[in-house]
Amino acid sequence: MATKKADDLAKVQALLAECGLERTAATLLDEAPQIGKKNATVQAFLKPEDVVYADERLKDNTYISKGGFENDFGYKAHMDLIVTRGKGFTKEKNKKKRGSYSGGKITMQSHSIKKLAGIGKPKQAFSSSAAALKNQPPLFLRKNCALAHLVKGSFKGVVQQPKYADLNEWLSINTFEFFNLVNMFYGVVTDFCTINECPTMSAGPGTEYTWTDTQRKTIKLAAPQYIDYVLSQIQTTLDDERMFPTKAGSEFPKDIRATLCVIYRHLFRVLAHIYWSHYVELLNLKIEGHVNSVFAHFISFAKEFDLLDRKDMAPMADLIAFYEQQGIVV
Ligand SMILES: [Zn+2]
Repeated sequence: MATKKADDLAKVQALLAECGLERTAATLLDEAPQIGKKNATVQAFLKPEDVVYADERLKDNTYISKGGFENDFGYKAHMDLIVTRGKGFTKEKNKKKRGSYSGGKITMQSHSIKKLAGIGKPKQAFSSSAAALKNQPPLFLRKNCALAHLVKGSFKGVVQQPKYADLNEWLSINTFEFFNLVNMFYGVVTDFCTINECPTMSAGPGTEYTWTDTQRKTIKLAAPQYIDYVLSQIQTTLDDERMFPTKAGSEFPKDIRATLCVIYRHLFRVLAHIYWSHYVELLNLKIEGHVNSVFAHFISFAKEFDLLDRKDMAPMADLIAFYEQQGIVV
């Protein structure tokens, strides 16, 4: 048994060396010292004869087997490299990488067997296509999605000003917290929020936010740019010692409420965009419960201290109404 394993290992090493992976072959022995030893037992996770192929074509791993190629880049590279072996392959490949290699047309066509054979479940349930959204309420309004929460019960007690806390201190500390959370959730979907995917700062049908610059000019921005501006602006405001003093004896400015209202309006817009445009990503990451909880907390807080207008909350009115019915948002 042990000798057979040692033989197998030697074969694998030879194969790796042949493919120009001598270093991997050498470390194989260091990492699996017990394989060659007498009486050592190595558990095979899966025997080759037990492997079940989802599609017959997967048995053949060669370039040619995928089919569908024309005289394109991939095919030309294949024809040049298939004749080389081991070290020769690495050398030729590197030469091609360095040189002004022109291999023909680059096609974006997919030859995925998975796609062609329809292997795997269709992702209909998570479809966020515009057509699907037009005909039915958004996913986040589905009961099972909306009720995914980390916290049970109402946020009323959580948002109320503690007896001995200063009102402005209480407002500031919560605002810092909401800003960090919204920033974090946006960070999670930022890879999907691109100028191509989100060319406007939308939050559902009929809602498109525009940015007002320092000259009071209204500019249409793509969502990632808008959100970047908004979050940077809030960060600057929160870091401003005159707005949010941290030193003992310093007073909050008189117009702090107006500043807070702007921050809440902007944070709301980012959350609304995440819900309307990136809910599928939240579901795939299984963090809808986190976002729902933060959203319900945020709305409860804004309502308690009158930091958001009802009309500003319109894009998320249905979800808010549902949470109010459920007694989550009071
Ligand atoms: Zn987006």
